[in-house]
Amino acid sequence: MLEVKIADARKSIIEIGFKLLDRKLVAGSWGNISMKIDKDCYAITPSGRPYDLLEEEDIVIVNSNGIKLAGSGIPSSELFLHLAIYKKYPTFNAIIHTHSIYASACAAMHRQIPPLLEDTAQISGGSIKVAKYALAGTKELAENAVEAMGMSNAVLLANHGAVICGKSLDEALIVAEIVEKSAHVYCITASIGESFPLPTNDIKLLRNFYVEHYSKRQGGDE
Ligand SMILES: [Zn+2]
Repeated sequence: MLEVKIADARKSIIEIGFKLLDRKLVAGSWGNISMKIDKDCYAITPSGRPYDLLEEEDIVIVNSNGIKLAGSGIPSSELFLHLAIYKKYPTFNAIIHTHSIYASACAAMHRQIPPLLEDTAQISGGSIKVAKYALAGTKELAENAVEAMGMSNAVLLANHGAVICGKSLDEALIVAEIVEKSAHVYCITASIGESFPLPTNDIKLLRNFYVEHYSKRQGGDE
């Protein structure tokens, strides 16, 4: 049974890799994707392999301590970032780390993305925060990201990119697209003039609706 789940996870990660490339959310081998198989078994993309050349065997299987169990690759250098998020937020089953352009622009400016649009509010419950800077691949980066994520599905990594979580890889992909769109709209509005964040009460209503209905459907709970 576990072998079947591992095989399915590897296939799903490869499919999402192609979609991330297609939607220009990552380039080359940058960024990474992981999926929870069970509470002590995770699948993650390998370090340094382009998404369009990934084979199922390349996807690395690790336990919750990051010990490699299977796979021909070396786990992504951001493995501990992924494991720290799974540990803190047990409802997430999938994580995508992107280097998309507008989210990276906000990360470079250390600017959180405000809830200017309803879909931004739904996936974040407010602004998408920026984690304090730490060098890529370090435990400090993982700690900073977990601290800044709060109750959101996404967080920006200062001078780096974005981390997106979901109940499923499909949900994480949609959230990754909304994060990039939100960052894009924020950059456009900031360059033109004044913009108006949504009312606080409506942000709460939108977030509750997302968590209670949309996110559950994406995770197959409803
Ligand atoms: Zn990165």
